[in-house]
Amino acid sequence: RRAEFAAIRALPPITKDGLRATLMVNAGLAEDAAQLDLSGADGIGLFRTEFQFLISAALPGRDAQYRLYRQVLEAAGDRPVVFRTVDIGGDKALPYLADASDESENPAMGWRALRLSLDRTALMKAQARALIEAAEGRILRVMFPMISEPWEYEEARALFEAQIEWVKKRKPGPAKIEFGAMLEVPSLAEMLDQLLPRVDFLSIGTNDLTQFLFAADRADPRLALRYDWLSPAILRFLRRISVEANAAGVPVRVCGEMGGRPLEAMALVGIGITNFSITPAAVGPVKAMLRSLDAAAVQAKVAALLAKPPRDMRKTLTDWARRHSV
Ligand code: PEP
Ligand code: MG
Repeated sequence: RRAEFAAIRALPPITKDGLRATLMVNAGLAEDAAQLDLSGADGIGLFRTEFQFLISAALPGRDAQYRLYRQVLEAAGDRPVVFRTVDIGGDKALPYLADASDESENPAMGWRALRLSLDRTALMKAQARALIEAAEGRILRVMFPMISEPWEYEEARALFEAQIEWVKKRKPGPAKIEFGAMLEVPSLAEMLDQLLPRVDFLSIGTNDLTQFLFAADRADPRLALRYDWLSPAILRFLRRISVEANAAGVPVRVCGEMGGRPLEAMALVGIGITNFSITPAAVGPVKAMLRSLDAAAVQAKVAALLAKPPRDMRKTLTDWARRHSV
């Protein structure tokens, strides 16, 4: 199948009935950006900036951060790059940031990501400055991880805006800046009416979102088979978010691993989600799925299935895909 994926590398991720999806990739290193051409993706939908922190022996300074972001933007050229501010803390222990090496019993639900950034504003200011300066003359796209309530987004955004003002008094700065929210904590889904008017895009982190929705540790192999990304609870939850965001005119992307599996991605198209940021190796398989799919047909099918869920959604969708040569 590798040859089949290579053959469609230059072709768009478009369904049989003409729906243009977007396939972007998740990345975290400068080398990943250099691979962009190879994957034939539309851009980088999630750049995990914490990778640089995790592989460094000391806290990366503003210059080191600037150099990485600049390199990534240059490699991406005209294609968009969405930078996520650091998701450190919790189980991502950093020796040089002692109090972030959390020994709490539930590190995934602990002092991590935006929670840590909002409490350690010097760290976040340095990152903001590095991003703003690296994106000089271009569009800067930033999103914040682990937002539980809209005020956290507002605080993070205000911090960035203050840095933009500071930079713009001295240099040209970015041509434009787009702010996004990651939706990976279920409480935020209940507050979309407050959040949506304030964001340029929404990115759903299905890895964290499903572990919180099911109260099931994503790293525990004993639970891996028990909860399924194709469960009606998840699909209904995601559909609610996508419907609300669509109504508000806010683009939605799924950036968790779920979108990188062809059957799951098919189900996501079924609930109206057509923007994906996935691992580079999944671009070929997901694109092949999309190009063989009738989006209107899967939307009708998934709507019927979610109204009256079958016992085994995975089997039902697998059978449907096979019958429709997806
Ligand atoms: C997610 O939670 O789905 C996500 C994309 O972020 P990460 O996997 O880095 O936590
Ligand atoms: Mg996450």
